[in-house]
Parts: sequence; C-alpha cells; structure tokens
Amino acid sequence: MKKKVQIPTGRPSGHLTCPVCGNTEDFIELAQNVTVTTRYRQNVDGSFTPEENETDIHGEVRLLCGKCSADMTGYHNHFLDMIF
Ligand SMILES: [Zn+2]
Repeated sequence: MKKKVQIPTGRPSGHLTCPVCGNTEDFIELAQNVTVTTRYRQNVDGSFTPEENETDIHGEVRLLCGKCSADMTGYHNHFLDMIF
C-alpha cells in the first residue's frame, strides 16, 4: 500500500525548498499547546529519576522555514515521512 504525500518540487527533485528564500537546510517544527507529563521515582537517597515521558500535542503542528519562518505546513506529512 502506498501513502499519498505532497512531494516537494525543489532541486534536486524531492528536496524540500522554501518557496520564499530558497532555503534547503534549516526547518522548524512548531507544536502548539503541548502538555508534557513526566513520571518520577524517588530513590532511597531522596533523589529523583525520570521514568516515563509523555508528550500530548493538543494544538496544530506547523512546519516553518528555519531561515525566514515562511509557513510550509503543506509539506509536513512529507517531512514526517523523511525523518530517519
Ligand atoms: Zn525561507
């Protein structure tokens, strides 16, 4: 099964390019209304060790150019597919 993803048309083909400034290197993922829950265990000496970390994103997630902050959210699904 193939997933349908908006593929960028930058050069070389398939590379994400900012339509405003031409940046191909720096990108920012911006998540809004994020709740981070961390579970801690207290050790015998009174110190704490983080055990579990959960991040809930309640707002929208946007993809921005890292240089001029242009909104590139339309490519976010492609961006997620290309993170290794
Ligand atoms: Zn840009």
